[in-house]
Amino acid sequence: MKRYLALQSCSLKLTGLWLMLGTHWLVPGILVFIAGGALVIVHMLLPRAQGLCDVVTGFHADGKAVWLTIDDGPDPEDTPKILDLLEASRARATFFLIGSRARRHPELVRRILERGHSVGSHTETHPLWNFWLAGPGRVRRELGDSVKALKQAGAEVRYFRSPVGIKSLFLKGCLREFGLRCVAWTIRSGDGFSGNRQAVVGRVLRQVRPGAIILMHEGPHVAGPVRVKALADVLEALAGRGYRCVLPSPDTFLYGSGRLPSRRADQPDPGDEAVIPVGPANIAEQRIAPAQGEVQPGIAGDN
Ligand SMILES: [Zn+2]
Repeated sequence: MKRYLALQSCSLKLTGLWLMLGTHWLVPGILVFIAGGALVIVHMLLPRAQGLCDVVTGFHADGKAVWLTIDDGPDPEDTPKILDLLEASRARATFFLIGSRARRHPELVRRILERGHSVGSHTETHPLWNFWLAGPGRVRRELGDSVKALKQAGAEVRYFRSPVGIKSLFLKGCLREFGLRCVAWTIRSGDGFSGNRQAVVGRVLRQVRPGAIILMHEGPHVAGPVRVKALADVLEALAGRGYRCVLPSPDTFLYGSGRLPSRRADQPDPGDEAVIPVGPANIAEQRIAPAQGEVQPGIAGDN
C-alpha cells in the first residue's frame, strides 16, 4: 500500500474514533471510521486505482497505436488460432498467462514468444474471488510460481495483471521482488461476460483512442459465439480505423486515469498518412523486429 493511502485511511479512522469517544457523535463517528477502511477497499477493487501500487492504464502513443492484451491463456484450442489471427493482421499483443496453464502447455508459451508477442503473469491459479484477501505468502506464491513457469518456457516476465484487476494489500512489495509492473486496461471489451460479438466490437470502438490498453480473453470460459471470433472482429475493426496493435515501451507508460488523449484523436487528420496501419505493407518490419520488440517512440511501423 502506498503511504498516502495509509495516511488517509488512518486519519479517517482516528477522526472517527475522536468523534465517537471525544465528542460522543456516535453515528457520524462510526461512518467516518468505516470510511477509512472503505477507502482502502475501493483501491483494492478498482482496477485503475493507484493507492496500492503503480498501475499502468495507458501509454503515450506514437500515432494511432493501441496495446492489445489477452488474458487467461494459454489455451490449446484458442491460442494457436489467436496467433494466426494476429499474424494475419500484423498485430502484436501481450498475453497475460496463468502459471498453472503455462506449466501444462509450455510449447504454447514458446509459440507466443516466437511469433513476436510478449507474456505477463496473471497469477498461478487465477484466484478470482479471494486474491484481494490473500496474505503476503499467498500473493508471493501466486506471482513467484507463475513467473517461474513462464521463465522456464523461455519468457522474460516484466508485467503482471491481477485477476479482474482486483489487487491485494501486499501486491506492491511482491511486484518489486519479482521486478514486475502491474498493468490494468483502458478498454474492457466485455468478451468475458458477453455472448454478443457485435457488442464486444462496439464497446472497443466506442472507447478506442491512441495509447489505449484493450482487455480481451481466451479460453473455454469465453462464450462460444464470442470466443476467438470477437478478437478477429476487433482486429479487423481496429485496422479499418488505421490502428496498429503494438507492444509499448515502459518509458511511454501512463499511470492513473484521464491522461490519454481524447477520442477526437481518433478522427482523421493530416498526420494519418504518416501512420502505418495494420496491413500487409508492414509485414517486413514485423518480421525483422526483435521477438520481444518494443515500440520506440517516434519510429512508426516498427511493430
Ligand atoms: Zn483473468
